[in-house]
Amino acid sequence: MPNPILVSACLLGLPTRYDGRHKGNEHVREHLREKGLQAIPVCPEQLAGLPTPRPPCWFAKGDGEDLLAGQGRLVRCDGMEMNTAFIRGAEVTLAIARLTGCRTALFKEGSPSCGVRRIYRQQQSVAGQGVATALLRRSGLQVYGEEDI
Ligand code: SF4
Repeated sequence: MPNPILVSACLLGLPTRYDGRHKGNEHVREHLREKGLQAIPVCPEQLAGLPTPRPPCWFAKGDGEDLLAGQGRLVRCDGMEMNTAFIRGAEVTLAIARLTGCRTALFKEGSPSCGVRRIYRQQQSVAGQGVATALLRRSGLQVYGEEDI
């Protein structure tokens, strides 16, 4: 496959978000066309086996990198810890990157899985990266967000 790139499924218009909606972004589609990139849609949270719609989740402590290092905590809005599910989703996302030969990813900013520069702690936007972003970066992939293009 020529020039494959992982892309957050919701950015491509797929209704994978926690609220059952999408974040389809024409600028992203244009960028992919212009650069001749073949999008491989992934939703780490669906790949974790979580339902859609699903309750929103956010970090209670740290960010995705901290979580992988055993220092962070990610919770559902009712307080249930979700660390294991989010790590699983990140691992399956990495497996898809390897199967399809992706060396880069274009991800949705702000998500606990896909966030590139920002995540949410409770309802507040703070600096940090999501769990899938952190795992892909640890594995040598370049990850950028829709605000970087
Ligand atoms: S996990 Fe990523 S791809 Fe899935 S809905 Fe959230 S931001 Fe979009």
